[in-house]
Amino acid sequence: MTFKTLQFAEEEVAKLKAENRFLSPRVVQSAQKPVSIIDGKEVINLTSNNYLALTDNPKVKQAAIEATLKYGIGSAAVRTIIGTMSLHVELEKKFAEFKHAEASILFQSGFLSNVAVCQSLMTSPEDLLISDELNHASIIDGGRLAKAQRKVYRHSDMAHLREILESDIAKKARRKMVVTDGVFSMDGDIAKLDEIAEIAHSHDAFVMVDDAHASGVIGKQGRGTVSHFGLDGKIEIQIGTLSKAFAAVGGYAATTQSLRDYLGSVARPFMFSSSQPPSVAATCLAVLDILLNEPEYLKRLWDNTAFFKGELKKAGFDTGNSETPVTPVMIGDMDKAKKFSNRLFEEGVFALPLGFPTVPKGKERLRTIVTAGHTIKDLEKAVAAFTKIGRELNII
Ligand SMILES: *Cc1c(COP(=O)(O)O)cnc(C)c1O
Repeated sequence: MTFKTLQFAEEEVAKLKAENRFLSPRVVQSAQKPVSIIDGKEVINLTSNNYLALTDNPKVKQAAIEATLKYGIGSAAVRTIIGTMSLHVELEKKFAEFKHAEASILFQSGFLSNVAVCQSLMTSPEDLLISDELNHASIIDGGRLAKAQRKVYRHSDMAHLREILESDIAKKARRKMVVTDGVFSMDGDIAKLDEIAEIAHSHDAFVMVDDAHASGVIGKQGRGTVSHFGLDGKIEIQIGTLSKAFAAVGGYAATTQSLRDYLGSVARPFMFSSSQPPSVAATCLAVLDILLNEPEYLKRLWDNTAFFKGELKKAGFDTGNSETPVTPVMIGDMDKAKKFSNRLFEEGVFALPLGFPTVPKGKERLRTIVTAGHTIKDLEKAVAAFTKIGRELNII
């Protein structure tokens, strides 16, 4: 089918292909597992955000099945119209406890949680949203939907953050919000949340931390960056996603009761988009239960992380400044990164190549994430493949 009116799409696609930016995801034919069937081939999966390997966990799957049988498939409308299902109420209460916050509010994804909070709190040109330059795209888009002025500080550069907070714009601002990823998704480094909080609060700004890659990963029992720094009760807003360690989909903001109540009455993604299916809320409750009662998952995640990072370094790879299971393998060129990834796939290892605009030009890389479910044998095999191809392509 062709429309003359849509001919521009062909041109745009050709341009993306010429710029090496055209994306065509592989197809996964099994559950997301440490070893998955992808494009018909069994490969060691180092690309998922399935930190605790719970996407295929029998207890978690059973929770989804039971909730489906009891509560059905969908929630049938937005919560502000049809009402809130009891599972969502329970999950909000448990997430508030997990994050040591007064209350929490669920959204349909981490992306929408960031959009909801930025757009709802930063409502006037007199407001100022201050963001780390490496923050996630959903924070950037949330900022674009907000009416506030925006300032970006150099990655984790506390002097620059302070400088912005001491500027005239900040002095005159009505509300000031400092936003940071908790764990940066492309580099795996941890935000200096203790310093950010101190600098923000001494300038009457409040802090929002997006713990997408931190919840279920760092801090006591996987409670996230706030717990990691011992800042319980000191960070105004904690965002989380339910699509990474929590194995399903969704997001939340954990905060004060009054801010939760406010978001529940004005946040557009909450008011104009239906809530998660009940089965999803049930799986998240099951994952929370595992995090609180079965510490071996987190221990295996961190043991595997230490092993894999150590072996990659020993082999001579540059793994950046990562402090978490997100481990980049720096390549510095998109053609080479793609070739590396394709060769790895042939050797039975799946690791995603990342280029501009996901990461800056010149910082092209493969990003790897080990999970609690990988065996040491899986990881040894993966390192052997990395080493072989790294030599082939003159990276090491
Ligand atoms: C993955 C991610 C999101 C988006 O979460 P979804 O639940 O997949 O929409 C938001 N913020 C950060 C930092 C992320 O890494």
